Amino acid sequence: MSFLRRLSRNRLGLLGLIVLFVVVLLALVTPILPLQDPNATETADRFLRPFSEGHLLGTDHLGRDLLSRLLWGTRLSLTVGFAAAVIAATIGAAIGIVAGYFGGTTDNVIMRGVDMLMAFPYILLALAIVAALGPGLLNALIAVAAVNVPFFARNIRGITVGLAHKEWVDAARLSGMGHARIILSEILPNVVPVIVIAMSTTVGWMILETAGLSFLGLGSQPPTADLGSMLGEARAALISAPHTSVVPGLMILIVVMSINLLGDGVRDALDPRLRSGALTRPRPATMVSRKSVPKGEGRGILALQDLETQFHVGRRVYRAVGGVSLHVEPGECLGIIGESGSGKSVTALSVMSLVASPPGVITGGAVRYRDRDLVGMRYLDLRHLRGDRIAYIFQDPLATLHPLYRVGDQLTEAIRVHHRVSGREAWDRAIDLLRQVRIPNAAERANSYPHEMSGGMRQRVGIAMALANDPDVIIADEPTTALDVTVQAQVLSILDDLRRDRGLAIVFITHDFGVVAQLCDRVAVMYAGKIVEQGPTHVVLNDPAHPYTRLLIQSVPELGQGRRDLVSISGLPPPVEDLPPGCAFAPRCPKCEPDCTVAPIPMLGSDHHAARCIHPETPLREAAE
Ligand code: ADP
Ligand code: MG
Repeated sequence: MSFLRRLSRNRLGLLGLIVLFVVVLLALVTPILPLQDPNATETADRFLRPFSEGHLLGTDHLGRDLLSRLLWGTRLSLTVGFAAAVIAATIGAAIGIVAGYFGGTTDNVIMRGVDMLMAFPYILLALAIVAALGPGLLNALIAVAAVNVPFFARNIRGITVGLAHKEWVDAARLSGMGHARIILSEILPNVVPVIVIAMSTTVGWMILETAGLSFLGLGSQPPTADLGSMLGEARAALISAPHTSVVPGLMILIVVMSINLLGDGVRDALDPRLRSGALTRPRPATMVSRKSVPKGEGRGILALQDLETQFHVGRRVYRAVGGVSLHVEPGECLGIIGESGSGKSVTALSVMSLVASPPGVITGGAVRYRDRDLVGMRYLDLRHLRGDRIAYIFQDPLATLHPLYRVGDQLTEAIRVHHRVSGREAWDRAIDLLRQVRIPNAAERANSYPHEMSGGMRQRVGIAMALANDPDVIIADEPTTALDVTVQAQVLSILDDLRRDRGLAIVFITHDFGVVAQLCDRVAVMYAGKIVEQGPTHVVLNDPAHPYTRLLIQSVPELGQGRRDLVSISGLPPPVEDLPPGCAFAPRCPKCEPDCTVAPIPMLGSDHHAARCIHPETPLREAAE
């Protein structure tokens, strides 16, 4: 269903589908149409022009009705082309799957045979096959199918080789399945889309090849008409009676064009990467569509004011971030904590408009950096700030560092994007940065590739890169989640020193209260795209006001305190495309009261400590809103 919808969104593909449908329909009903006999000659009516009495498209050199010949010829050409495509795809795919699945000698023998077929120009090969078998439509079909087998075999073999070593195939093998069963149930379903795509893009080609052979007199034999032979017979009268060539020529054009357009559409609709929108190039900055801009200056060096970021996928709206307000001062570390999927990363990426668009849209709020609003800022200005004034550290440095460049080069590049310095200078600075993040033997390590370093080392390179231009703010999105505990402690202490020495403001995203306690001055707890509690770390940790915060803290094991029972929060966070009207945590909250589920809950309390709860665990002083 969604395949058809995607196909119909591709206008050219849809056009191809409609045209091809009409042509195929005509070909199907040709026998029951009131047409003249396509082979009945009438020498008196030779070369009648189109729209003549009784002959809508005119007649050919033997006085045969062109319309009738055209429809019968199209029927024949389509049949032969499709049949050749199906035969070539079946045989080619079988060869490819066997070669790719078994590999080794089998693969070598089969593929060298295929290579030998491919070594001949295919038209020559087709001619040779027809010459050997003798002219005739069936032989032309065999020839066209045969020359296309290698194309399918190579294509499918490549895909199969990749699949044959996947874990699920190994698992099937370990569970005792035989080869035939694995091929049919594990491999084949995964290559069928590729076969369909390859077929849909080659059918047109095969119709052309068949027409070519018929044109040369090697395909359909007189008096039977196919598009190629009609063209061949009309050749002699090309100048004197051009319509005899134009009619079959146009039909070939229409058929092949529509098949190719449809084939491209099918390919796009079937390709899973296109399906998720990955190949629609994301914009350089997140789309912004907000009705109003919050007034007032932001506090601190970076302030988010009621920031809202959504994902618009089709008709569905995912409210990933639903009105987040927070700020950081220079030299301060703000922690953002929350379950996976609570919107922490989207909040972080929204700051610099890095949320991929489409589907991301910033639908409200502002991001104030030094009194400038980063939301909706000109792309060029934004680019100047990215990585220079506000820098990011991501979770997986192996994914963010380029595998083919030395880390020194990557640091150098980060510097030279924003500053006009010589390569030498930048390199020296890169080594200095590596030293600052306590990489031993920095001058030599700068020559390493990312894969030559350990995880902790790589993350330190990530930090060095964020520091490269001496930013004001660093946004660290779970930078220590992939590291083990000792390395995590080292990385945290580096970050802690940096903010004290340089007055860096750090927004530190994590799902680990231990890390928050160690590093952060203040903490904001996120749930379902909203901040549910915010305050100084020691206050929030010791006297949490929101039941969610308390449960989160109680679910963290404490070293040496093995006797306390760990709490697990039952249920799951609500889906962000369908949030409840009141408190988003209410369905899971042990203290939920009827009034919790009626209307959205505002942040209550003071600037110092606030929570989005009307029945807090500890009383909150004075209302903030
Ligand atoms: P986390 O707090 O674990 O970092 P994220 O910020 O990555 O969570 O995600 C927040 C929410 O946004 C999740 O519910 C996620 O499903 C949704 N989301 C993220 N990216 C997309 C996207 N491209 N399309 C739709 N929803 C998305
Ligand atoms: Mg995340």
